[in-house]
Amino acid sequence: MSSPTKYLLSEDRIPKAWYNLRADLPFDLPPVLHPGTKQPVGPDDLAPLFPMALIEQEVSKEQYIEIPEPVLEVLKLWRPTPMFRAHQLENALDTPAKIYYKYEGVSPSGSHKPNTAVPQAYYNQLAGTKRIATETGAGQWGSSLAFACGKFGIELKVYMVKVSYQQKPYRRNLMETWGATVVPSPSPDTEAGRNILAKDPDCTGSLGIAISEAVNDAVTAKVPTKYALGSVLEHVLLHQSVIGLETVEQLALANAQPDVVVGCIGGGSNFAGFAYPFLRDKLKSGGQGPRVVAIEPAAAPSLTRGVYAYDFGDTAQLTPLMKMYTLGHDFVPEPIHAGGLRYHGMASSICELYRNKLIEARAVPQLATFEAGVLFARSEGILPAPEAAHAVRGAIDEALKCKAEGVSRTIVFNLCGHGHFDLSAYERYLSGSIADHDLPQAVLDRAKTTLPAMA
Ligand SMILES: *Cc1c(COP(=O)(O)O)cnc(C)c1O
Repeated sequence: MSSPTKYLLSEDRIPKAWYNLRADLPFDLPPVLHPGTKQPVGPDDLAPLFPMALIEQEVSKEQYIEIPEPVLEVLKLWRPTPMFRAHQLENALDTPAKIYYKYEGVSPSGSHKPNTAVPQAYYNQLAGTKRIATETGAGQWGSSLAFACGKFGIELKVYMVKVSYQQKPYRRNLMETWGATVVPSPSPDTEAGRNILAKDPDCTGSLGIAISEAVNDAVTAKVPTKYALGSVLEHVLLHQSVIGLETVEQLALANAQPDVVVGCIGGGSNFAGFAYPFLRDKLKSGGQGPRVVAIEPAAAPSLTRGVYAYDFGDTAQLTPLMKMYTLGHDFVPEPIHAGGLRYHGMASSICELYRNKLIEARAVPQLATFEAGVLFARSEGILPAPEAAHAVRGAIDEALKCKAEGVSRTIVFNLCGHGHFDLSAYERYLSGSIADHDLPQAVLDRAKTTLPAMA
């Protein structure tokens, strides 16, 4: 093997500005609507929840937005992240394809999420926020924000879905180590939580309930408190662009021209952060450039089987309405192990790119995904997060296609996190107790009937 395995950038190559694809899109994004009036929301509607700098980024059409120096100082703890040539995986697959992967698992919390947690905490500090309330499912977002809030002296309260709080104590321990307060949701600490507990004292919680609690907390707290979200919103996608900006440079170091770019999608943030800089170059060159492929779980197939419509961002119907491919806000996917990919909707810009055929999407079943994760661990060494294993599956399928066709293509994918907190999922896979479930069309048809009525 003559070509290198690792492509590393020195610290001064951390991007100095985030890239905003919106500046280069040939179309605009549909407006976000107020759930009551169904009119476009303005900055004042969002001001109780987010600092103004983030609200501005949410709608900005600036092509590049400078990354503040204090944010760069923290990102330096793990960025730039490495890009690898997957020589060992290529050998295992006996494929003529060249496979590269960007690795975001080297961050403090083990995924891409601190890339946005850090700037969100920073802008909150700048705006005088003393405290943030947020929700977390399995704990990836909560732990990333716990780390970031610690860096900027902000108190953090995390409403963690009760069943995860009980079953996945390690992420909670991590959040507490970084200084956050974590409560199982539904909790007696908010009116939203008390109402649910009054009806069902044994309720094991859901992300929708936890969102309600965090929002409820943020708007009623006595100390200046805001809310924060780890995916779906455009400012989150923007902050993740450091991933793709670095990868473009690293591929240039490798003298590689990608033919296929692959990432997994839950709410869309790691995929967008990774892929949008490639789309920038593709749009600039009149469509010349790599195919861009989003991989979603067959159990929560928003893009490939969802309805394109205005829907709530959460189960509790508290958020503004977003036009997206949705499975319906009260859709409950199978309890698959890629907790980060169980969201019913998708970031707006990803939906518009898909609708305009600038990106492709594919759904993969759970067993094939774990099979890919294990093959990756055995060849490249890194144990992928179950979410990241979807991207691995997508890349492997592309590489196998190359083998079948007898052609070499360059495939690059985002390995968005490691799976060290997901070992119980791997245990279940290795012991044969994970199964694939069909998602009947009737379930999806029902979801359509729950969409909010539009004028
Ligand atoms: C949260 C998470 C996801 C899903 O979120 P996106 O916004 O779609 O990136 C995927 N992978 C990992 C490792 C996560 O922590």
